[in-house]
Amino acid sequence: MSAQGKKRDWFDLGAAAYDQACPGIYAVPTYVCPICLNPFSVEALDDGRLSKEHVPPQGVGGHELLLTCTSCNNMAGTKLDASAKTKEDVRLAMAGRANRPHRIKATIGGITVNGQLNAKDGSYALTIPRHLNRPGMSEALQRLGRAGASLTVEHERYSELGARISWLRAGYLALVAMEGYKIVLDPAMEIVRTQIQECDERRMLTFVADAQADFPMTIRRVLRVLEPAWHRGCTVQFGPYLVNLPSLGDMTIYERLANNGLSPAVQHTTYEYVGWPITPTFGITRNEAK
Ligand SMILES: [Zn+2]
Repeated sequence: MSAQGKKRDWFDLGAAAYDQACPGIYAVPTYVCPICLNPFSVEALDDGRLSKEHVPPQGVGGHELLLTCTSCNNMAGTKLDASAKTKEDVRLAMAGRANRPHRIKATIGGITVNGQLNAKDGSYALTIPRHLNRPGMSEALQRLGRAGASLTVEHERYSELGARISWLRAGYLALVAMEGYKIVLDPAMEIVRTQIQECDERRMLTFVADAQADFPMTIRRVLRVLEPAWHRGCTVQFGPYLVNLPSLGDMTIYERLANNGLSPAVQHTTYEYVGWPITPTFGITRNEAK
C-alpha cells in the first residue's frame, strides 16, 4: 500500500471508530487526534496537519502505528522522544551493548574533547575523532596520555522526566491503536494526556517502571495486571520499560502506585497477555469500518 493510501486507510478507520463511540457529532468523516482531541477532516492528510506517528518513537526502533496531529507529533519529537533515545543509548553503552558509537565528552588531564565510546560485548574503546574536535587536540592528548592522566567520561545529557513521558505517550498510543476512542474518551486517561502535553512538570509519581529482567527492546506487549489489587490496570511493555495505564474509569491508579509501588517488600505481579497492535484497529473490525 502507498504511504498516502495507508494514511487514508488509518484516517477512515479512526473516523469510523470515533463515530461509533460518539455517533453523529461530526457531519463529515472526522479524525480526532488522540493526544489533543482536536478534530480533522480528510483535507488534513494533504495539507500535512495529520501525520503518521511511530510507536515507540523512531529513534528507539518504533514503527508507524496511527495518526496524530502534526503539532502533537512534532512537540513530542523535540521535547520527549530525543530524551528517550539518548537515555536508551546511554543505558546500552553502560551495559556494553551499544550497537553504534556513542557520543561522549571525555576530560583527560584537564582537557575536554568530543569522543566516541564503542561498547560491545562488555568492553569499551574510546576514540577521539579528529573531525569532532579542534585541530591539534589529538596531539595534545597523546602527550597527556603518556603522562598517565586520569580520564572522565560524560554522557550526553537528557531529561529523565522527558524520557519517561515519551514512554508513557507511546504506551497510551499503543492502547488507542488497539482499543480506540473508548480509551481516548475515558475520564481516567485525562491525567495521562495532561502529563503528555504539559511535560515540563511531573503530574504523577509513578507511571513508568523498570522491568525486573533485562528484556530486549524488541519485546512489546500489552498486558493486563491482575494482581496485586492495588496495581490492577494496564501495562504496556517496551523491552525494559513498563508503562502503567489505568483501566477504564479507574481514577486512582497513580495514587495507588505511588502509595504502594515504593514499598521495599518484594512484590509479585501477575499479568495477562492481551496482545500487540501491528496495525491500528481502534477496537473495531474491518467490516464495521466500511
Ligand atoms: Zn494533536
